[in-house]
Amino acid sequence: MIDLHTHSTASDGTDSPAELIRHAVAAGLNTLAITDHDTTAGWELAAEAVQSLDVPFRLVRGTEFSCAYFDRDGRRTGLHLLGYLFDPAAEELKAERARLRDNRLGRGEKIVQNLAAAGYPITWQRVVEIADGGSVGRPHLGRALVEANVVGSVDDAFANLLSSSSPYYVPKQDMEVHDAIGLIRRAGGVPVIAHAWARTRGKVLQADVLAELVDAGLLGIEVDHPDHSAEDRGKLRALAAELGVLTTGSSDYHGANKTVRLRAETTSPESLERLLSSATGVELISSPAR
Ligand code: AMP
Ligand code: FE
Ligand code: FE
Ligand code: ZN
Repeated sequence: MIDLHTHSTASDGTDSPAELIRHAVAAGLNTLAITDHDTTAGWELAAEAVQSLDVPFRLVRGTEFSCAYFDRDGRRTGLHLLGYLFDPAAEELKAERARLRDNRLGRGEKIVQNLAAAGYPITWQRVVEIADGGSVGRPHLGRALVEANVVGSVDDAFANLLSSSSPYYVPKQDMEVHDAIGLIRRAGGVPVIAHAWARTRGKVLQADVLAELVDAGLLGIEVDHPDHSAEDRGKLRALAAELGVLTTGSSDYHGANKTVRLRAETTSPESLERLLSSATGVELISSPAR
């Protein structure tokens, strides 16, 4: 079983990279991608954990990049792009990851200031402690709000205070998506659009825009995702077939920060093979038992 989208403490998940691998094995997976937001910081520890396993297991190293699409009128749609098996030393993309992480700090602090000004007892210092060196994201703010007894759960925090339609929300300065696709491809990686039609999160890209991104070098669409309706999955699968790109299925596991479990959605071995055959940045890592 193959799960190609998961988060660790290197971003807004709650499992360390080693725990993530251990939990993946326990969940019955034999292939996992670690895809923290805007960072490769978890790659090394995850790889070490796989190299000490005594069961067959494969690790796909990746990153979930924060991106934005601008239409002809300049209207912005935020989206996430999974980049798999790119060279982490490729300079331009590396610089973009650093910029994106840095922007997450300023932006997170602004949201905290907005909430604090409205009387919610939350401090930036506490959020930074909770993030503990990982790429800062709204789930860390959510945990600070839970700690302060403002909300009952991170989910509740996302339902209003932290949602993108909240008055306290501040967007990130994300990568322009055509640029991101180009940089990932030039670093030997495979760009796949994450949760393309997760409509509850906000605006999504229409089919014609997805086609435009495929022309720009997009190689896959994440079709099976917990935030996708059955109807949208069917349409995305048909669109991917029409456009000739691969499809993936993934849990988007975040440990205790989300309710979804590892292996909740999976990718077919055929799709994984296609993905691997398109990658030239870094290798798949296999456990010694394989
Ligand atoms: P940010 O990257 O700071 O804009 O925060 C978005 C992140 O929050 C994404 O990684 C989502 O997976 C995560 N997220 C979205 N909805 C929820 C939720 N209801 N509970 C926990 N995390 C969420
Ligand atoms: Fe996340
Ligand atoms: Fe995402
Ligand atoms: Zn994710």
